[in-house]
Amino acid sequence: MKSPLCTICLKNYPLVCGNCQEKISEGEISELDIKVARVLVNLEDLFPSIKEVTFKQVFVADGVYVVLVGKGDVRRILGSGRRVLRQLEEELGAKVRLVEESRDPQKILRDLIRPVRILGINTIWLPDNSFERKVRISERERDNIPLTLEQLNNVIYEMTGERIRIVFD
Ligand SMILES: [Zn+2]
Repeated sequence: MKSPLCTICLKNYPLVCGNCQEKISEGEISELDIKVARVLVNLEDLFPSIKEVTFKQVFVADGVYVVLVGKGDVRRILGSGRRVLRQLEEELGAKVRLVEESRDPQKILRDLIRPVRILGINTIWLPDNSFERKVRISERERDNIPLTLEQLNNVIYEMTGERIRIVFD
């Protein structure tokens, strides 16, 4: 797995090389990032596709751990079933969502609510010239959304600065 720290240091943490120590000191990677990255890297043997994954960072919004990974990595991680996700949640004691790094709210939302699908998305202009995105999801899927609407909103806002509004059809 690619991450800000080299794989060996990730496995041996807190014993790290000078290069990685510098990244830690400069705040390029946080304690929380390391904690999550270590869980993932230790699953490499069990799920070899994780070796191809790029770990970016993790942030917590509303108690949910949002793990940012590279393009195509969500499929790489979840390809072998949802066991990786369950393992992460168990070891971190929190709800975890894997999201590919993006500024596109629709793409982020798709990762956040997976396997629930988005039916459609409209941009609604408000009188003050700002806008919000109205996202339609099937009423039948309402209970399958893994996060609360507020959590979804907060994560999207933190990542993109945009507001979304979810409506059920
Ligand atoms: Zn290192």
